[in-house]
Amino acid sequence: MVQALAVSYVRVVEVERVTPRMLRISFSGDSPPALLENRPDQQMKLCFPRPGQRVPRLPEPEAEDTYGMRWYEAYLAIPEAERPLMRSFTVRSYEPGSGLMAVDFVLHGDDGPATRWARAARPGDVAGMVGPSSAYARPLPAAGHLLLAGDESALPAIGTILEGLPAGARATVCAEVADAAEEQRFDSAAEVTVRWVHRNRGESLLDAVRSAALPGDDVAGWLAGEAGTVRALRRHLVEERGLPRSAVEFSGYWRRALTQDDAPTEEDLAWARERAEGAG
Ligand SMILES: Cc1cc2nc3c(=O)[nH]c(=O)nc-3n(C[C@H](O)[C@H](O)[C@H](O)COP(=O)(O)OP(=O)(O)OC[C@H]3O[C@@H](n4cnc5c(N)ncnc54)[C@H](O)[C@@H]3O)c2cc1C
Repeated sequence: MVQALAVSYVRVVEVERVTPRMLRISFSGDSPPALLENRPDQQMKLCFPRPGQRVPRLPEPEAEDTYGMRWYEAYLAIPEAERPLMRSFTVRSYEPGSGLMAVDFVLHGDDGPATRWARAARPGDVAGMVGPSSAYARPLPAAGHLLLAGDESALPAIGTILEGLPAGARATVCAEVADAAEEQRFDSAAEVTVRWVHRNRGESLLDAVRSAALPGDDVAGWLAGEAGTVRALRRHLVEERGLPRSAVEFSGYWRRALTQDDAPTEEDLAWARERAEGAG
């Protein structure tokens, strides 16, 4: 069944620097309090205005009636020149009291529409939001020891996962960032070991995961970040460490030299099939 997703406007309330290359933008909106669920790793899509627009054009509320539950068709039905630019993000935090939702944006240098919008964002600016929805929730494999690995784009999700772990749980985080100034602090009741991997020192995330000390069994992996790296990490965990495929949740968050508007490559499609098979 195709899932209906809520589409809403959100307004910038505050912009703050988390690190030199990570911006935290807090949004308010009419609908987020009803939309957001109490779970970690909530992903959604943000819609940004086209050049010349102040506010992005979103599918009309009645589009759901016209298009059944297929929000994406309603999105595609907007003439291309006016269609908002859409990218995937993670809800870093949500405060039911104030209704504020924070999203952390990586300022990755190779600017696309999301990064450009975030750099220029000021209180009062408006973006669109599609979701989040539990239909797209990434299941966290159950295990006594969790290995979380990813680059900056995965840190918001990793932060929410760590915050959601109970006392007694154990987690190892391998996090790739540009340099030491990009390191962040995470709160968790669990016993957490964090290994920072610095690109400016030529360190590699795969090497860090290879050398991570993990207990022999009862381990699960959660991987996100640049798609090629995520594939290599998964291969290592499944083929070299012997983790069951079902114990490794993985997702390519971005592709080198490709935008999120570019068509999937053959390799992307092969991995999407494997993800679907693993989930089935
Ligand atoms: C489920 C999910 C959750 C995500 N959560 C977050 C989040 O909370 N915060 C966040 O910042 N990102 C997150 N991402 C990643 C984000 O959607 C992508 O990085 C996206 O490409 C950014 O859009 P853009 O317009 O800046 O760049 P695009 O127009 O998509 O790409 C432009 C260029 O930038 C390069 N590029 C894109 N992203 C990166 C990057 N991270 N590092 C280096 N180069 C890059 C591309 O290769 C391309 O050459 C998430 C992705 C997914 C799928």
